[in-house]
Amino acid sequence: AKKHKVTIVGSGNWGSTIAKVVAENTAAHSEIFEKDVQMWVYEEEITVPKSSQHYDASSDLSTKPQKLTHLINHFHENVKYLPGIPLPKNVIANPSLTNAVKDSTILVFNLPHQFIGGICKQLRGHILPYARGISCIKGVNVQEDSVSLFSEVIGKELDIYCGALSGANIANEVAQEKFSETTVAYDPPSVDSQNPTPATSRGPSPASSHADLTQLAHRDVSGKASGVKLKPLPQEYPALDHSTLKTLFHRTYFQVRVVSDVAGVSLGGALKNIIAIAAGFVDGLGWGDNAKAAVMRIGLLEMVKFGKQFFGKTIQPRTFTEESAGVADLITTCAGGRNHRCAKLSVQRGVPIEEVEAQELNGQKLQGTLTAVEVNHFLKIQGMEKEFPLFTAVYEILQGRAKVEDLPQLIEGSGEIQ
Ligand code: NAD
Ligand code: 13P
Repeated sequence: AKKHKVTIVGSGNWGSTIAKVVAENTAAHSEIFEKDVQMWVYEEEITVPKSSQHYDASSDLSTKPQKLTHLINHFHENVKYLPGIPLPKNVIANPSLTNAVKDSTILVFNLPHQFIGGICKQLRGHILPYARGISCIKGVNVQEDSVSLFSEVIGKELDIYCGALSGANIANEVAQEKFSETTVAYDPPSVDSQNPTPATSRGPSPASSHADLTQLAHRDVSGKASGVKLKPLPQEYPALDHSTLKTLFHRTYFQVRVVSDVAGVSLGGALKNIIAIAAGFVDGLGWGDNAKAAVMRIGLLEMVKFGKQFFGKTIQPRTFTEESAGVADLITTCAGGRNHRCAKLSVQRGVPIEEVEAQELNGQKLQGTLTAVEVNHFLKIQGMEKEFPLFTAVYEILQGRAKVEDLPQLIEGSGEIQ
């Protein structure tokens, strides 16, 4: 029997954290997984900061710029993107994308959404045809007049099935093993029927009552199947189902619920980043908790509306209100996320948010700023900007065409439950 080999494509703040989680589980479940987890690293040369516990003024490793992969494999720590957190020794940093994914049956995509298109192009022809993907990416793919999920982009570009992982997961907290929950969404078409997806271990699988969800990864926005022909996973491998995915991602400190609503899980993670910027704006003005609660409530309604409007055939609205990937992620990101923090600082300092991002995040990337622009582009083409007043207001403020102080007027009268 063969074992699943797992590769993490990406190694930022969240990518490195997920590599840690996954490597702990592959080491503990050698009957299912190969122990070593490849982690593809976008290579860069860095100098170990003096604040690092690894800094040693007498060592070349500290005094001269070094390749990030070398430092990760030497210190078992991502000293740039996840400093201070020991990584398991079975996380192997690899600067070669094609080598990192070689022979892997499970590809976990975890990088800022603006880079995934280019990465998929480089991966084409270099992965196992029967590999399966999980996208941890929080963003949506807008192209001219269409919007799609990154699980779909990956699925289409690589001819594989791709599910999603998203939740209330500030990476540094998960990396420190502070308790959190997450949601994994996986709903492959019936080609994997020799490896059927069982009910989740907590409650019945939504798939059983929503049979029409099975083509999710391969629909376009109008709900049609795109005709991707999936290759079945060879029988020698352990089934790649909800239970295997739970074994791969679940830790006592990182509790996993596996569901089938890939669209709901992905959209929750993407759209809450726009709302976190609005929450940061009102916090920056010192408007207090009532104002923040108001933008969160109105934002949640716009998230659900967007999902129903553009992914109506596949989405389960309750994912937004009941799963970690929905309201829980909205709450945590509006409290402790980078989008919120940078938006707040941009108001307090009176500078564009991009400037705060460059100054404060040491190479980490905001997703909400781009998502606000991309979603607005799509809504404009649909003639629906006015139906999403909070998303539109955030866009207008980011563009400098409206002031944060105008927010109440811009969203006045919205927030009706439909
Ligand atoms: P990050 O913002 O910490 O790091 C940026 C990453 O982008 C680095 O690994 C860098 O090497 C890489 N990069 C820079 N230029 C690149 C290029 N040209 N091509 C490819 N890669 C390049 O990243 P992250 O926090 O790991 O975010 C990945 C995804 O996870 C995002 O969609 C984010 O929303 C999501 N997420 C983040 C958190 C969190 O708390 N950090 C939590 C949950 C989900
Ligand atoms: P930020 O990117 O705003 O830090 O949000 C992280 C996140 O997605 C928490 O779940």
